[in-house]
Amino acid sequence: MIELLQPATWPEALEMKAAHPEAMPIAGGTDVMVEINLDHHRPDAILDLTRVRELTEWGGEDGMLRVGAGVTYTRLIDELGDRLPGLAMASRTVGSPQIRNRGTVGGNLGTASPAGDAHPVLLAADAQVELASTAGTRRVAARDFFLGPKRNAMRKDELIAAFLIAPATGPQQFSKVGTRNAMVIAVCAFALSVDPMARKVGAGIGSAGPTPIFPAEACRFIEGVLDEQRLWEQRKEVHYSALTRFAELVAEAARPIDDVRGTARYRRHALWVLARRSFMWVWDEYRGGGS
Ligand SMILES: Cc1cc2nc3c(=O)[nH]c(=O)nc-3n(C[C@H](O)[C@H](O)[C@H](O)COP(=O)(O)OP(=O)(O)OC[C@H]3O[C@@H](n4cnc5c(N)ncnc54)[C@H](O)[C@@H]3O)c2cc1C
Repeated sequence: MIELLQPATWPEALEMKAAHPEAMPIAGGTDVMVEINLDHHRPDAILDLTRVRELTEWGGEDGMLRVGAGVTYTRLIDELGDRLPGLAMASRTVGSPQIRNRGTVGGNLGTASPAGDAHPVLLAADAQVELASTAGTRRVAARDFFLGPKRNAMRKDELIAAFLIAPATGPQQFSKVGTRNAMVIAVCAFALSVDPMARKVGAGIGSAGPTPIFPAEACRFIEGVLDEQRLWEQRKEVHYSALTRFAELVAEAARPIDDVRGTARYRRHALWVLARRSFMWVWDEYRGGGS
């Protein structure tokens, strides 16, 4: 028998989690139900978060967007696609319409799979994850949140309340390589965002290491090129050699393995291609965009 806990409010959810730290939260259930049905995991208790309205809300906070952990991919695309184009692109690649109608970024973060499609975007945008318990609330940078395969920084008494992410100020991209076009776990994935106001380039790698990866050196390198050559102001093309070096640094940051979906060598090569191509796309958009 699995005990079912059904809080109606956020404070009640936190109290139930404090009283039953082993209870497994369930949001859309698109990961949890697979685990239970395949008998990979059989929790003693389930904490059903679907009645907690606070988790399904989003709004502005000091220039950032605070998006409740229970906002589905479909709603992200429909309601926030203009402000979060990279996350909307990634969301469109998740599963099928049925999965996108149920699945949430909170659940993606909870599972913390290296292949979770929201993760590279959160890394690229330097988003924060808001964790809460009856003891209080804390925010953890997405870049510090992933600790290992399916391991994250959440404590047993905590729940994911929301994530905080800046609305896009420049072009963003998300690309995913799979063994077919839809309903597919990424062989590898890459997210990129440029912020012309802060003169920052952010990137994230998925499915090519034990965790999603922020390729810090690649970002620093290309930011240096854009600054030194005054390319932000002049909106000129980035030289081929700099693009190639950026792509090499992204591929070097990956820590892929050989598995059923692809070899480590293929993943590195594919990331090289995705990084180079994504940068060309966002930079062309910036040069033509006039923003
Ligand atoms: C057919 C199919 C296709 C899929 N395709 C993709 C894909 O293309 N890309 C992709 O990234 N994923 C994919 N997934 C996996 C899944 O849909 C995503 O990981 C989704 O984001 C999970 O969200 P959920 O709300 O359903 O999470 P749930 O299954 O409800 O929960 C997932 C995990 O997060 C925890 N959790 C949920 N909410 C909270 C919270 N607020 N606080 C703390 N912990 C919480 C749960 O305890 C559990 O450990 C697919 C799944 C299926 C079944």
